[in-house]
Amino acid sequence: MKLSNVEIARLFSELAFWLQVEGDNPFKIRAYTRAADTLKRLPKHVFEYTEEELKNISGFGKAIVEKLGQIRQSGTFQTLERYRNKYPPSLLEMAKVSGLGPGKIGTLYRDFHVQSLEDLWTCIEDGCITKVKGISSKVVPKLRESVRYLLDNRHRLRYDEGERVAKQFIDFVRSAERRGHIWTIGTLASFDNVLESLDFLTDIPTDRLQEILSGYPHLDGIKQSEEGTRVQLRDLAVPIRIRYGQTSNLGSLRVQYTSSGEFFRALVDRFGYVESPTEEDFFRQLGVPYVPVELRHNPIVLEGDHLHTLDKLVEETTLRGFVHCHSNYSDGVWPIATLMEEVRSRGFSYLVLTDHSQYARYAGGLTVEELHRQWREIDDLRRAHPDFPILKGIELDILPDGSLDYDEDLRRQFDFIIASVHSQLDMEEDQATERILRAVQSGEIHMLGHPTGRLLLLRKGYPLHYEKIFEACASNGVAIELNANPRRLDIDWRRIEEALQAGVKISINTDAHRLEDVDYFHYGITAGRKAGLTVDDNISSWDFTAFCEHFSIKRMC
Ligand SMILES: [Zn+2]
Ligand SMILES: [Zn+2]
Repeated sequence: MKLSNVEIARLFSELAFWLQVEGDNPFKIRAYTRAADTLKRLPKHVFEYTEEELKNISGFGKAIVEKLGQIRQSGTFQTLERYRNKYPPSLLEMAKVSGLGPGKIGTLYRDFHVQSLEDLWTCIEDGCITKVKGISSKVVPKLRESVRYLLDNRHRLRYDEGERVAKQFIDFVRSAERRGHIWTIGTLASFDNVLESLDFLTDIPTDRLQEILSGYPHLDGIKQSEEGTRVQLRDLAVPIRIRYGQTSNLGSLRVQYTSSGEFFRALVDRFGYVESPTEEDFFRQLGVPYVPVELRHNPIVLEGDHLHTLDKLVEETTLRGFVHCHSNYSDGVWPIATLMEEVRSRGFSYLVLTDHSQYARYAGGLTVEELHRQWREIDDLRRAHPDFPILKGIELDILPDGSLDYDEDLRRQFDFIIASVHSQLDMEEDQATERILRAVQSGEIHMLGHPTGRLLLLRKGYPLHYEKIFEACASNGVAIELNANPRRLDIDWRRIEEALQAGVKISINTDAHRLEDVDYFHYGITAGRKAGLTVDDNISSWDFTAFCEHFSIKRMC
């Protein structure tokens, strides 16, 4: 299988990690980090360049080009494999601990025999951690919290990762047995943010399925029980579970296994139960409109008012505005013109460009001069494409005290401001809430970006007093983003109903840094649908005039 640029970049980043663990030459480390960065930003696949062209790309020295050749042949390279053999892979997992760099991981491994998250936990609990050079007792509580969080979430999988494995699994089974059905069920089918198992329903007989699965790659064991079959794969954090049913009843079973107990009981109590081969037919026979999988968690959906709004739920086809995205002015990959072309060809009707502000230096935040250069470029694009609006937006950093980046004069010149927190993400609830309230109440911002700063299964994000935030957003006309990046999915869909009731509008945005990130909408839309989000409440589903009117943006409309 051909690796993508991002996957190849990951190999170089991994080598940089091992070199840091080893305490190697910083110049060498920087060279590989830079190569990884360059790879992520290449406009086409790295193997489409000739060797000569590669050598001319800044960031690719001779050593890198040579390793790219090896990757092309074998999917990896010797130097990396040498380090993979030298160190236990569990050190890579330790790299997820926030506040623990590879250098310290190396010291912990060499001098304290710490080689896994469990070892690290013991080392924190028995106090040996404070003996590690560079770790002060002040940072230990934060390390402790991060390690605990990672350990607690170890046997869970992000939805997008689960979805990828599930597709491969289904393809494998279907290519071996074309007559049978195999469908997703459980939390995998209902698009939960994180999964504890991958569940399937099939009408392929048990013996036949076991025979097929005995050849599955990385198989670590198959167990049979009354519930069905349980499959464990070597490199998968969660089990695969398979239930069986008759073809004639498979649809009814899928409804049952994709519903919460509460929802299914309410459905059967009110409308009865029939055996049916498809879900559509099941609902038709009961005389109930088809309830999409993502809504089968709450029986309130079965009430008359709600059943009538099912066809107004957000869908990918309803999207109009490409609201939060980054160009190569900050940490995005693409020039604005390319981004605009792509967004337009995907059927969007306007673009709100929001590169990072100055404070986010690590993410290439724009200096005042760069901003002026960007605005001139946008002016040119506007002249060349008068029928496709681009707004001069910014993803403005909310500073730790709640003040906003840049000076007020400059801030007034933006068409649109998304304010986000990117620093000091470990605040307590009061402090974090105050910080965001101050930004919202400034009256200068239009939208709050990824409100909790969480990274699913990696970082919990800061706690917030939601009621206060929603109230302030509603009275200041500030919308809240549902960041569709599957690592974030922030704001959590479970909070959306409360936000809507407080009078806040939501906007599903990809926060795209690469063109492929446009695909994140799939995750954001399903999360929104789980919350029952309709087109009327999702700003990115509005046309440009409605968008401008809502935010009183006069300059463009
Ligand atoms: Zn951000
Ligand atoms: Zn962003």
